[in-house]
Amino acid sequence: MASEFDVIIVGGGAAGIGAARRLAAHGTSALLLEASARLGGRAYTQNLGGYPLDLGCEWLHSGDRNAWVDIAEASGFPVDRSDPPWTKAHPGIVQDEEGQAAAWRAYGDWEERLRMVAAGSDRASDALEPGGTWNAYVRAIAGFMSGMAPEQISATNYLAYDDASTGKNWNLPLGYGTLVAASLPSSTTLRLATPAERIDLTADGVAVTTRAGTVRARVAIITSSTAVLAGDAIRLPAGTEPWREAAAALPLGRNEKVFLEIGRDAAFEPDSHAYGDLHDARSASYSIRPNGWPVIEAFLGGEGARILDEEGPAAGFAYVSAELTALFGSDVASAIRPIAATSWSRMASIGGAYSCALPGRSDARARLALPFEDRLFFAGEATHPQDFTTAHGAHDSGQRAADEALSSLSKRRRGSVRAVS
Ligand SMILES: Cc1cc2nc3c(=O)[nH]c(=O)nc-3n(C[C@H](O)[C@H](O)[C@H](O)COP(=O)(O)OP(=O)(O)OC[C@H]3O[C@@H](n4cnc5c(N)ncnc54)[C@H](O)[C@@H]3O)c2cc1C
Repeated sequence: MASEFDVIIVGGGAAGIGAARRLAAHGTSALLLEASARLGGRAYTQNLGGYPLDLGCEWLHSGDRNAWVDIAEASGFPVDRSDPPWTKAHPGIVQDEEGQAAAWRAYGDWEERLRMVAAGSDRASDALEPGGTWNAYVRAIAGFMSGMAPEQISATNYLAYDDASTGKNWNLPLGYGTLVAASLPSSTTLRLATPAERIDLTADGVAVTTRAGTVRARVAIITSSTAVLAGDAIRLPAGTEPWREAAAALPLGRNEKVFLEIGRDAAFEPDSHAYGDLHDARSASYSIRPNGWPVIEAFLGGEGARILDEEGPAAGFAYVSAELTALFGSDVASAIRPIAATSWSRMASIGGAYSCALPGRSDARARLALPFEDRLFFAGEATHPQDFTTAHGAHDSGQRAADEALSSLSKRRRGSVRAVS
């Protein structure tokens, strides 16, 4: 393995690739180490049943200011700007329309109360009405957004994301994961299946130890998830304890997906949506025939994702099949066939879905984003002040860390020129 680079990037997800793109644009040499055997991290499109399905990120949130939109268009990837399926309820299902409207109002009222809670305990569960009729629904939506129960969500942080979102949710029919994995610049040296095990500061840079040997560079950008940073998979230099503590205050929530194939003659409306059960906090959000494909995608968050994480894919399939049967009638059972289920929480190099600031800890994002000794720079979705949890937030954080690394490199070059002259 070559041993001298300007920058070593740890992690080849949206943040690592965002960083690599910025460094490449400045002609800075970079080595990207990725623990798994593929690029993309939580951006992962798999061809399932012949369709490019996104196991992780799927929606270009805040599409009108999302860097991946420009990258897609510059690389010839089509961007679908039509309204997402969750704005179009599937017609003719067993649905309590009044209940749905009341549940939405209850969610809006909870968000309003979050503003007061943010100024006090900061615990999002304190904004739930004691014994409220729609608390299960609010829990389910908070689970989709954060992967956590409201007891573990910082109200301040939850609102920061919402307030910054532009509400435009666009789609990449070829897959978000396909785009992210295709976007590493060709000038970046890539080592897949090469986890960084230890990072040390040296006299003039950094040394990163992998099972294939030690590589050296002037600085490093670390983009691993907060679950990885707070755990013991990477040994960081002494003095980085506050970074690990900040990562622990931003645990990854649970969000998982189940994909089902539907019979071609089954009468499902394309690009539509259904919500499982307004009174069950575990309930899934169903995207029906996305892009017209004969597929149903169930998205589970918090308590619902726990079924998959703790009981396994068969229990997940059973749960969503029962919800779909209750919605569409018993005939549906013979029309659906499980094709895949995710297990993000069980993946050692990731460890969950996306970061959630614990109550009172919205400061942890800025803390985690600080440089260490002007040599280690931290990126990843969890470090973005508002667009955390997203692939565009991850990308932008990578670019921010690359700018910090570039400025450190140029300061040190100026310093060595002065020392020589
Ligand atoms: C089910 C689900 C649905 C989602 N939906 C959306 C959505 O619709 N829109 C959206 O914008 N976002 C969504 N997200 C979130 C989005 O996918 C993430 O926020 C984003 O992809 C995170 O990118 P990242 O680079 O910060 O981290 P990661 O993607 O986790 O990248 C970090 C990389 O580091 C690697 N790594 C870890 N340890 C080491 C090591 N020791 N050495 C080397 N490499 C290491 C990992 O393998 C990984 O590839 C979703 C996520 C999930 C799980």
